[in-house]
Amino acid sequence: SPLIQIRKLSKNYSTKGGDITAALSLVDLDVAPGEFVALVGPSGCGKTTLLKILAGLVGEYRGEVLLNGKPVRKPSSEVGFVFQEPTLLPWRTILENILLPVELVNLDMKVYRDRALDLMAMTGLAGFENKYPKELSGGMRQRAGICRALVRDPKVLLMDEPFGSLDAMTREFMNEELQRIWLDSGKTILFVTHSIPEAVFLADRVVIMSPRPGKISEIVPVNLPRP
Ligand code: ADP
Ligand code: ADP
Repeated sequence: SPLIQIRKLSKNYSTKGGDITAALSLVDLDVAPGEFVALVGPSGCGKTTLLKILAGLVGEYRGEVLLNGKPVRKPSSEVGFVFQEPTLLPWRTILENILLPVELVNLDMKVYRDRALDLMAMTGLAGFENKYPKELSGGMRQRAGICRALVRDPKVLLMDEPFGSLDAMTREFMNEELQRIWLDSGKTILFVTHSIPEAVFLADRVVIMSPRPGKISEIVPVNLPRP
């Protein structure tokens, strides 16, 4: 059975002036455990809104959004979020940034510190534990953002154009890195991108959203052989 089930999801935002923006309209989507789904579509079609709802960051919506059969209304440890910009706190070291989601809920730091160090080693950040964000390249900061999203071992990883601000070579390298993380961890990943080649390289399935209000217009199976 699907890990994520979305049925007739609609989301309106009301603005200060009293206007209403329809961000999503009657979206249906299922995602199987371990699947890598890429979400593409024009700016403003509701991709970020869809991810934020799945992350529990937007609790008000119409329709059904289920994770493991349970309605999603608030953030949980089962979902990690990688933002467009890694939003690391400049006054904290890389390791302290990665451990932030653990610290915020008072979990056992010793256990998670080892996990954070493993993740850093896995993503080529070993040796940078005590550096500050400004001492790292953009690609390395984005990798730290991925470590932070993975530190509580979520089932689902949501990624909102994570490599959009990187140069082409770093981006290609990060794509290979992410594919390796996915193959090693078996996480379920939803990945928003503007790049069709990136979507096709990474995903099992490419979901195309049509312009406002966001609606899923096409689902293209990719099913390329995996390395
Ligand atoms: P994206 O790069 O995904 O298209 P935007 O740059 O449109 O995102 O939006 C950046 C942030 O601003 C988002 O978190 C979104 O929720 C918020 N936002 C976007 N449009 C509006 C709006 N009309 N009013 C208030 N907030 C908005
Ligand atoms: P995308 O990620 O595909 O660019 P978004 O989900 O950011 O799309 O936005 C979808 C629509 O909702 C856009 O018209 C955007 O301006 C609007 N929107 C997003 N966030 C907000 C917000 N917090 N308040 C008002 N309008 C918003």
